[in-house]
Amino acid sequence: MTQLNPQQLAAVKLVDCPLLVLAGAGSGKTRVITEKIAYLIKQGLPARHITAVTFTNKAAREMQSRVAKLLDKQQARGLRVSTFHALGLEIIRKEHKTLGYKPGLSLYDEEDKVKLLKNLIVHSKSDCDAEQVEQYANQIGQWKNAFVTAKQAGSTSIAEQKATAQLYADYIRSLKAYNAVDFDDLILLPVLLFQQHPAVLEKWQNTIRYLLVDEYQDTNLTQYELVKLLAGNLGRFTVVGDDDQSIYAWRGAQPENLSQLQKDFPRLQVIKLEQNYRSTGRILKVANQLIANNPHTYEKKLWSELGYGDPLRVLSHKDEITEAQQMVAELIHHKFKSGGRYRDYAILYRGNHQSRLFERGLRENNIPYFISGSTSFFAYSEIKDILAYLRLLVNPDDNTAFLRIINTPRRELGPSTLEKLSAYANQRQISLLSACNEMGLGQIVSSKSQIRLQKFYDWIMNAAQQVEQHEPFKIIAAMIVEIGYENWLRENAKTIESAERKMKNVHELIDWLKRIANKDPAQEKALDEVIANIMLMDILERNQEEESGDQVSLMTLHSAKGLEFQHVLLVGMEENILPHQNTLESDEQNGSNGIEEERRLAYVGITRAQRTLTFSYCTHRKKYGDIMECQPSRFLGELPEDDLEWVNKKQLPADVVKERGKTNLQNLRAMLS
Ligand code: ATP
Ligand code: MG
Repeated sequence: MTQLNPQQLAAVKLVDCPLLVLAGAGSGKTRVITEKIAYLIKQGLPARHITAVTFTNKAAREMQSRVAKLLDKQQARGLRVSTFHALGLEIIRKEHKTLGYKPGLSLYDEEDKVKLLKNLIVHSKSDCDAEQVEQYANQIGQWKNAFVTAKQAGSTSIAEQKATAQLYADYIRSLKAYNAVDFDDLILLPVLLFQQHPAVLEKWQNTIRYLLVDEYQDTNLTQYELVKLLAGNLGRFTVVGDDDQSIYAWRGAQPENLSQLQKDFPRLQVIKLEQNYRSTGRILKVANQLIANNPHTYEKKLWSELGYGDPLRVLSHKDEITEAQQMVAELIHHKFKSGGRYRDYAILYRGNHQSRLFERGLRENNIPYFISGSTSFFAYSEIKDILAYLRLLVNPDDNTAFLRIINTPRRELGPSTLEKLSAYANQRQISLLSACNEMGLGQIVSSKSQIRLQKFYDWIMNAAQQVEQHEPFKIIAAMIVEIGYENWLRENAKTIESAERKMKNVHELIDWLKRIANKDPAQEKALDEVIANIMLMDILERNQEEESGDQVSLMTLHSAKGLEFQHVLLVGMEENILPHQNTLESDEQNGSNGIEEERRLAYVGITRAQRTLTFSYCTHRKKYGDIMECQPSRFLGELPEDDLEWVNKKQLPADVVKERGKTNLQNLRAMLS
């Protein structure tokens, strides 16, 4: 604590009134949160009464590890450091009865949501294409995040909206019947619960006696409401944020929530931090100059004592393949010169699709790397199959899981049988699985089919009983053998290799569950909790768990928020990439200023760098099969010329250029090491 500056110290010690810490990047906002947690605990507030929330699992983990350095295990016991959504899930699971849910509820991801909507549309005998379903899904999400009920949405004279509102109502009803919640519900349901049940709210206010929120500028309306409810009249909270880093407008984030706080909590104190402890003076100057092009509600000054630093390099490349190769070469060269570690480097880009070539370049050179936010392990179809089995075991009402696995592997149940089953279940208002166990079903499906459905029901029920006695990984292992999943994969995968890869993933899932079970045997988690957390992790991050070790980080600008790296390579600095083409088009069409959000995104990227920052762009890039000419990003033009060093590729170190022409980078590496 002695290292904190006076403003930080004041922010840590101010506990009896609501507090907003408003400050630029790298000024120690997250540090204030972690120090404050430690301070509160040392002042005698038990850890179980403190909750800190943020937006991504990565950020939550980062915060957790920072707190762990300040406290011993005993002191930190019961401390909640989680994402908004994980907190919501915990509240819903604990209060499921009041909310009218059964235990073991399922969490639906985007794919489940779309599938359910499609089924509902088919049921209502209308027709629609995939893009339209997607639009419905988005609309419903927007309504939920703006507290619009199905009834309110439907009170309109526009026929189209009326129909969507009807779908919304059916969707809500089905989710409830399936004992499932979707991603938006994770915040919405706790808010509704607290609004309608003051006693429950009071209980939670007693549990969470101090609330801390990081990256507050990214909260949307429902999240803000949740903060307000939990904070109550006493307003015992600290929120920290930076309006210049608000990059989730597309998910409903409202930076105005910053000014709204002042209105809702008149006793609110505002503390500003101005010293940056992360970056060199030059990086800061460049970042400040870029963001000065946006209009500002709050003026912030940032300065640093870390020296002025090297000029920022800007590298140009003839196409995206060369870009990836040269940037990897640049990284190798720099690491060799500076004697640093791989983990000091991050390659940041605007969109996930940009990662592939960099990944290839790194792999070809045997450089360890970690991709954050790539296609998740949990999004693979084989993993989804197995998870659907588990979901059905803990939640027999999960019709979407039922439909996913009833013919995986094949059980000779045709579409017409399933349609009849579904009509029957609908009419009787029971789940598909329960319908399999009904005598009456015999009157509408063939006796062969009925036997098959009954067999499936018995098998699931039997397995569900075992769940209560054994550890999850043992159940899955046994189940996979029993259903002959491996054979099924062999018969259905495109190639033997692909079947093997899929099976390897399945084994990895089992190992992973085993690790969870062994990590903390005293706190054995129930299967439904494990599954819900897996689903949540997946939705939030589409990410793999393990990320330690000495490896280069690859990630989008969005997922880089809150993090810092010694050396940052910010690639694809081109018009139509950053700023993104969609933003430019919609700005042009409806005069919006999405460009400001793109600029904030660039600001987030620049301010991740501690010591060096290298930009790169291509003069040509393949797009939709054609080679297109590209312009350097306008944001590069907004930076102070004196602090940039534009490096034409011919001016790269001679050895790099010479070797690159000939062969892959393997040789280069050999040469440099
Ligand atoms: P961002 O806006 O990017 O989330 P932030 O404001 O949360 O940044 P932190 O991540 O908390 O900033 O801090 C940036 C870096 O500065 C960290 O490495 C942190 O440990 C360091 N730092 C923060 N406060 C101090 C201090 N008083 N003395 C020395 N280092 C500090
Ligand atoms: Mg931070």
